Amino acid sequence: MRAEHSPVRNVDPKHKVEPYLPSFLADAMLGDIARKLRILGYDTAYIKDTSDSCVLQAALKEKRILLTRDKELFKRVVKGGVQGILLEKQDETDNIAYALTKNKIYCVSFDARTARCSLCNGILEPRSSTKVKRRLPRNVLTTYNKFFQCSNCGKAYWEGSHISRLHMLAQRINNKIKKSSNESTADLIRDHDNKRLKSPEHEQYNPK
Ligand SMILES: [Zn+2]
Repeated sequence: MRAEHSPVRNVDPKHKVEPYLPSFLADAMLGDIARKLRILGYDTAYIKDTSDSCVLQAALKEKRILLTRDKELFKRVVKGGVQGILLEKQDETDNIAYALTKNKIYCVSFDARTARCSLCNGILEPRSSTKVKRRLPRNVLTTYNKFFQCSNCGKAYWEGSHISRLHMLAQRINNKIKKSSNESTADLIRDHDNKRLKSPEHEQYNPK
């Protein structure tokens, strides 16, 4: 599975370039976001039923970027030198897009070979139908031919009609990323124009 994470194959390992993939830790309020990030292939731990101090310690120890909606927790993130992102949008895909662009990720896609287990964050491995036959209904085993299994918890997955929904999820996030990037560019142009209008050079050319 590891080799499949690399964009370059059959090259000297010394020259192999691994893509930068941030790892996240979602706090108790962000279970759905954790699940979606895992599906898109991002290593995302999820902690609930524990104290803020334990969450902070886990993020620090595992070098994960803490995702939270909690402003008080985020203050402790900043004070404690933990990497973190405060998610303030109402819309879930807006928040995912924001967390990704903060990490310089501007495009996502769904790929079953790099997706992680939505249940436990484990790595998925390809399996034959025989290997997963005890875990999936018979009609699934006979209808589909691509199966995966979580190397950690054993949950079985298959490539079925639901895959189109996951591609649509990736597309919705990409649209949000594009929109926020267009808005940032518009802000930059507006700032630049405002500065230019206020500059002495401009007054020189447009005296009142
Ligand atoms: Zn799992």
